[in-house]
Amino acid sequence: MRRTRNVKVVVTLGPASKSPDMIHRLFLAGADVFRLNMSHGSHEDMVEYHSAIRKIEKDLGRPIGILADLQGPKLRIGGMKDNIILKEGCDFYLDLIDNTGDQLRACFPHQEVFETLQVGMLLLIDDGKIRLEIKEVLPDKLHTVIKNGGPLASNKGVNVPDAILPVRALSEKDKIDIEFCMRLGVDWVALSFVQRAEDITEARDIIGDRAWIMAKMEKPLAMEHLDEIIKESDGIMVARGDLGVELPVEKVPGLQKSIVGACREAGKPVVVATQMLESMVDSAGPTRAEVSDVATAVFEGVDAVMLSAESAVGNYPAESVAMMNSVANSVQNDSHYRSFIERALTLPETTSADAITRAARQVAETIKASSIICYTNSGSTALRASRERPDVPILVLTPRRDTARRMAIVWGVHCVETEDASSFRDMVDKATSIAKSEEISIDGSQVIITAGVPFGTPGGTNILRIATI
Ligand code: PGA
Ligand code: MN
Repeated sequence: MRRTRNVKVVVTLGPASKSPDMIHRLFLAGADVFRLNMSHGSHEDMVEYHSAIRKIEKDLGRPIGILADLQGPKLRIGGMKDNIILKEGCDFYLDLIDNTGDQLRACFPHQEVFETLQVGMLLLIDDGKIRLEIKEVLPDKLHTVIKNGGPLASNKGVNVPDAILPVRALSEKDKIDIEFCMRLGVDWVALSFVQRAEDITEARDIIGDRAWIMAKMEKPLAMEHLDEIIKESDGIMVARGDLGVELPVEKVPGLQKSIVGACREAGKPVVVATQMLESMVDSAGPTRAEVSDVATAVFEGVDAVMLSAESAVGNYPAESVAMMNSVANSVQNDSHYRSFIERALTLPETTSADAITRAARQVAETIKASSIICYTNSGSTALRASRERPDVPILVLTPRRDTARRMAIVWGVHCVETEDASSFRDMVDKATSIAKSEEISIDGSQVIITAGVPFGTPGGTNILRIATI
């Protein structure tokens, strides 16, 4: 089976999409990558999701990506009594005492951040619904005044947008989750609350080449280090949920443009996430504004759009995926699509891989080829070919199963696992016959093939061949 859609769809699994049947339905509806959210669900749940996904992959013969999203150093309050409502203007204490919280205080077991907190800073709880202003930082508690009140339930997240937190992107829980995910076998690991490029290096020291690493952009400090973070990462997520809490929500669309632009220039896959079809949690159809938001991301040329609550806890998981799929297909067929996509094309880098992949796009356009076919080992040439956002499908051939799965998130790429070419003739035969059997190219059409000689040595794309099916 092959999809004709360029942009990929990442689908978060959760209680609403737990059964193997539902996961199968979601895949058929358009899911290319499944996201396991390590903030919710047990390791046993993850094992179930994982085996259901790998079974579908095997049954349908298509590589499917699995993205494990780590919780990261998320600050949280402790347990709260039921029905607590905080009142604006009143004092409130956050302390280190492990007792159930009430109107006056809550446990905030994060002494490590106290030293960076200052009088006047805001603490945002529960996605900013509750706002506390710090009046005094004491050795064992924070004295605050309630700026925005409301109900406060147990374990809500706390954001401190103004502070540079002295925490690494990997918590102890994350390290345990990484070990678990590596044993399970996932293709991508997403890091939450990345602040600097070193956070990615630290994760890479543990993960090595066992998975690709995606940095989630959701901290103001990370925006200041965007280029270094992109350089160290294999992909980026525009994590608009926390980004819109840590920074004014009206800044998010512009930040999305900056992040997507920088990723497209760097040729790193970029995913736009959170609240894309949020109203479909409770409703069978999206709002016009949500459809427009998904369409905007597709016009921007992002690699993937993501569903979170819609598919994890919503009432219409399959309908949400189908809607993503329809919007993406419709935008791709819109007459404005190509001009928008091409607007963000930037110059190739001065490497032979870029020279070849840029030429591949140009030759494909000139001779009206039916596809670009890339041999790749690590996937890096496929990323460069995708960076060109060509007007024809990119068929990626790789001997590595992990590469095939990682490519599931990449714009315009249809990946097939196959042995490396052994000679020029074998390269052409294999490429043309797979292009035909995968229904990418029809008899008599021309295709562009890129590869590296000598065959079987990674990292050296240096030839471009035109062939006829
Ligand atoms: P989360 O990340 O769903 O793990 O919080 C995405 C976001 O913040 O947008
Ligand atoms: Mn987040």
